[in-house]
Amino acid sequence: MGKVYLIGAGPGDPELLTLKAARLLASANVVLHDALVSREILERISTFANVVDVGKRCGKKLLTQDEINALLVSYAASHEVVVRLKGGDPSIFGRAGEELEALRHAHVQYEVVPGVTAALGAAAAAGISLTDRRVASQVLLTTFSRGVDANALDWGCLTPTTTLVLYMPGPDYAEVARRLSDGGLPLDLPCVIVSGATGAQQEVRWSSVGALATEDKLPAPALMIVGRVASRQIREIGDAFWRGERTVSAHQTGSVS
Ligand code: SAH
Repeated sequence: MGKVYLIGAGPGDPELLTLKAARLLASANVVLHDALVSREILERISTFANVVDVGKRCGKKLLTQDEINALLVSYAASHEVVVRLKGGDPSIFGRAGEELEALRHAHVQYEVVPGVTAALGAAAAAGISLTDRRVASQVLLTTFSRGVDANALDWGCLTPTTTLVLYMPGPDYAEVARRLSDGGLPLDLPCVIVSGATGAQQEVRWSSVGALATEDKLPAPALMIVGRVASRQIREIGDAFWRGERTVSAHQTGSVS
């Protein structure tokens, strides 16, 4: 019986791979990877390894999650080092939970090797701090497409000092803007869209909840950071916020911001 390594490939820049990830890629017998993993990182895989693309292409799934789970278990029965390679960190919107459960169920040994999640790559690209102490006290990694109501965010956990990182915002920015403002976020709350964070095609677009609807679309993969930290003028925003000028860009009764 071999061992399955769930490895985070980071957001794009191959130098953000951990030493452990690079070592395991170089010694893997089998690698199952997602579409998000960059070519430069795939080039680090041992030339002797069997490399399987199990990712999505143009929204079309190549393999179902159950099929991937079954593949991991069966490869582990006949190969020593089986790598499951995912973009960012495996545990953040990466279905690591389902795969680990399948491995445990089949009594297959495993190890998770964390990676730099896209939120951190995007914050680095934008040159902001997700927990900038002047305006933020917590970070929420979130997405719309979850749970019973796929269009909703769990607004109950937002406070005025929450930085919201929206994974998989989709291409319809007007819809995203509508959902954010319906959720109570003020129109002048800053927002930054980061596409291809840490990769060669990286793009950063500064915006706000109100202006988002009319922004040009950035190429996938992209995410949005929403909150007071998503600005180049944090000092001014922070000073105004803590002085109590919480009229537009701040927490209003019955709303979140
Ligand atoms: N496990 C991954 C996330 C997978 S969900 C992680 O930890 O990063 C896929 C979403 O992640 C994309 O739709 C996009 O919103 C975000 N994403 C992944 N890589 C990105 C990148 N380089 N730049 C911006 N967003 C990225």
